[in-house]
Amino acid sequence: MKVTIFNEFIHEKEREHVRKIYPDGIHNQLKSFLESDDVTVRTCTQDDPECGLTEEVLNDTDVLIWWAHVGHKHVADEVAERVQNAVLKGMGIIFLHSAHKSKPFMRLLGSTGNLSWHESGAKERVWVVDPSSPIAEGLGEYFEIPCEETYAEPFDIPQPDRLVFIGWYSTGEVFRSGCCYIRGNGRIFYFQPGHESCPVYHQPEVQTVIRNAVKWAAPVRRVDELDCPHTDPLEG
Ligand code: ZN
Repeated sequence: MKVTIFNEFIHEKEREHVRKIYPDGIHNQLKSFLESDDVTVRTCTQDDPECGLTEEVLNDTDVLIWWAHVGHKHVADEVAERVQNAVLKGMGIIFLHSAHKSKPFMRLLGSTGNLSWHESGAKERVWVVDPSSPIAEGLGEYFEIPCEETYAEPFDIPQPDRLVFIGWYSTGEVFRSGCCYIRGNGRIFYFQPGHESCPVYHQPEVQTVIRNAVKWAAPVRRVDELDCPHTDPLEG
């Protein structure tokens, strides 16, 4: 299994309190719990040419993980289109937290990804609403995140093919926190936890979810071309 992690890598460089939580960047924290004998991990950031997401890299990626927040517009349209096409051909993708406004997310789901939010350091209780999903394997009925940004409904997304998690916040809101989609040959998972000011990716339950999601999103069928061929009738 080959995983590529794209992190815009801006907050960690600009804000001291974020750097304290993720001294090597969010991408390297994700890498630290994903890498194993079965999983090799490559990381790239917005500082790399073409965000590090060349055709060659995407062809060599089973699952792409995307964390971004303030730099969405700096991802070139060509790169976003390349990622979209790779998913349609069969690559898996996991969008984390504020990647709901990234270009590949909006292209693949055909919606704005807009949501309601506030930053109050609320506790989140993440409820497993699809216990048969492999993404929820190893979790109980719910788990709690002591500090998280509140992402709340309405969330402008298509109805998920499978909804795995609903988040409830101590400030009263709820949110569709774990959403599965299939687009073309590719599997897509959106997972809301991961605000940069809270140590969310250090939490074991969150790491379990992301590890499970990588396995779930692995390609089942991968095609080289997205063509639409004219064919001759088989009979008659
Ligand atoms: Zn955030």
